[in-house]
Amino acid sequence: MLVLGIESSCDECSFAVVENGRKIISHVIATQIEDHKPYNGVVPEIASRRHVEMITPVYRQTMELAAEQGVKPSDIQGIGVTTHPGLSGSLVVGLNYAKALSYAWNVPYVGVNHILAHLYAPQLEQEIPYPYLGLLVSGGHTMITLVKGYQDIQVLGASIDDACGEAFDKVAKHYGLGYPGGKLIDDLAMQGNDRAFAFPFANLHKGGHRYDVSYSGLKNAVINQLDTFWDGKSEKSVENICASFQRVAITSLLKKLYRAVEDTGITTIVAGGGVAANSYLRKSLEEHPDYQVYFPGMELCTDNGAMIAGIAYHYLKEGNVSGLDAGVSPRVKGFRKI
Ligand code: ATP
Ligand code: MG
Ligand code: FE
Repeated sequence: MLVLGIESSCDECSFAVVENGRKIISHVIATQIEDHKPYNGVVPEIASRRHVEMITPVYRQTMELAAEQGVKPSDIQGIGVTTHPGLSGSLVVGLNYAKALSYAWNVPYVGVNHILAHLYAPQLEQEIPYPYLGLLVSGGHTMITLVKGYQDIQVLGASIDDACGEAFDKVAKHYGLGYPGGKLIDDLAMQGNDRAFAFPFANLHKGGHRYDVSYSGLKNAVINQLDTFWDGKSEKSVENICASFQRVAITSLLKKLYRAVEDTGITTIVAGGGVAANSYLRKSLEEHPDYQVYFPGMELCTDNGAMIAGIAYHYLKEGNVSGLDAGVSPRVKGFRKI
């Protein structure tokens, strides 16, 4: 079955045609990074307006690439679209496009959960047997999950405040490094001493926070970078600040992930989201030869239409379809079980 996937939840406008939930026939991702750069973050109103402008060109390009593979619009048997969570104004643009195509082509469409799609994404590269622990770290989400099936996911832990990528972006903004901050901090950190500043680890483990993380204290400590955090010997350079921040940000996440590995006995780990590109994260996980760690390629790590088409295939195959009256939601309902 050929499925068209549509993603417009945040600042990426993306379409893909995927066969049987696995084989990518065509895939186009248009990012709006340049539009949001002046503001050091995604501006919802700009994002939705840009989606309106971009959606038809991105759709057309995806179908042109599919045509080169011998796929015509009439071969598409279903449509998948992100309906939650995300920015409402952006989600609505993709959803209405999906409804219009579904009506015009007379094929079913299904609204899907963006988080479930991220955790499904590596399945587009290779078949990964369930169960696995899913680590989803992006500009909007930070989650440690137990993944038992494409829609059987339990959120073990999450950030109680800022998302991990958001902390990278805000630190970068404060130091005038640019946007998005993750890659810039990662690169600077390579030249720094990660012990120069003793930034604080959030001490969250009691009261049901066994796998939760927190980034607002760390972010503020780095932004307000006080001499008390400084070892007094190393140079107070931005490289040292980046390296010290990155070590605490990633290590605090990994501590909770390793706890989940110990508690569940599951050693298969699948990472996703933009922060999964972080070199310190990758290196740290690779140091565990007994873990099976999967990092999808960058294109499948960040927001993309292929993961939406991929997961939608499974819903559509089971006759799970959405109606023309369906809406969007900025949040995930039933947080611990999604
Ligand atoms: P959502 O949370 O809805 O998926 P998003 O657009 O915020 O959306 P992504 O596009 O998946 O998230 O990822 C972007 C985030 O990843 C940004 O916060 C960016 O700083 C971060 N990021 C990208 N590369 C790196 C890196 N090498 N190290 C750390 N963070 C990174
Ligand atoms: Mg993005
Ligand atoms: Fe995302």
